[in-house]
Amino acid sequence: MSVVPLPEIMDRAFKYRYGVAAFNTVDDVTMHGVIKAAEQSRSPLIVQVSVKTVKFWGVDVVRNMFVNMAGRVSVPVTLHLDHCPDPDFAKICLEAGWNSVLFDGSGLSFDENFRITREIVQFATQFGASVEGEVVGVPGVEDGVGSEMGGELLPIEQELAFINGTGIYCYAPPIGTAHGFYKAEPTIRYDRMQQLVEATKMPMVLHGGTGLTNDVYERLISLGAAKVNISTALKKTYADGFRAYLEKHPTQYDPLKLIGAVQNDVISIAESLFAVFGSKGQA
Ligand SMILES: [Zn+2]
Repeated sequence: MSVVPLPEIMDRAFKYRYGVAAFNTVDDVTMHGVIKAAEQSRSPLIVQVSVKTVKFWGVDVVRNMFVNMAGRVSVPVTLHLDHCPDPDFAKICLEAGWNSVLFDGSGLSFDENFRITREIVQFATQFGASVEGEVVGVPGVEDGVGSEMGGELLPIEQELAFINGTGIYCYAPPIGTAHGFYKAEPTIRYDRMQQLVEATKMPMVLHGGTGLTNDVYERLISLGAAKVNISTALKKTYADGFRAYLEKHPTQYDPLKLIGAVQNDVISIAESLFAVFGSKGQA
């Protein structure tokens, strides 16, 4: 059985300073693709799903598909719920067997976010699950969650109070990255990342991972980003894969050849990112 709790994957990545890709899968083609890629690269893997995706397929369908696919490989894999602003939905997923959730209370007041995040942490504990926390919104709407502007940066003392007081396992820091495609070169706050890791000794999560240069990935991972979220790049690979195949084979009607080609594209991008993030060969 290769389904493991999130800390089993992230503690080691944080200690040895490599990053574990967390791919936002949308269906069986993408989920199976990234899991196969992890096995081939001997890399640990975080399979994550958005609230929108879980609602599209249904909680049990996603969870059962994950357990079935991940259970067949020998590398450690874990299931994570991305940006969830609804505490009740986060609890439903934890009850259904998710290994971790990001409770995203960045749209709430600090106090309200603090209170609910702590409650979710306590709830998750009974299932042996973990919670990622977020206090300042990452700019860019992702699958219907968040805002284009993101949140105002808080004094670091307040972020630390949130991290230490809520009992979260890992944290999504506001460091200048954004969801979606970058329209301009982002200004990355390496100093903030460094300060947060030094003060908390806690693994950090890199949001807005699509479109950063390898140098940016490497610097942030070396500072303590142990989970690197990849959503937009996978969606683009998926859509482009269908388009390219259909344009090249306009009279080909074998669906398995079509989705097989798309899945191969998914496997390729996943394998290349495992190599960039340094997780290749770590499992
Ligand atoms: Zn995010």
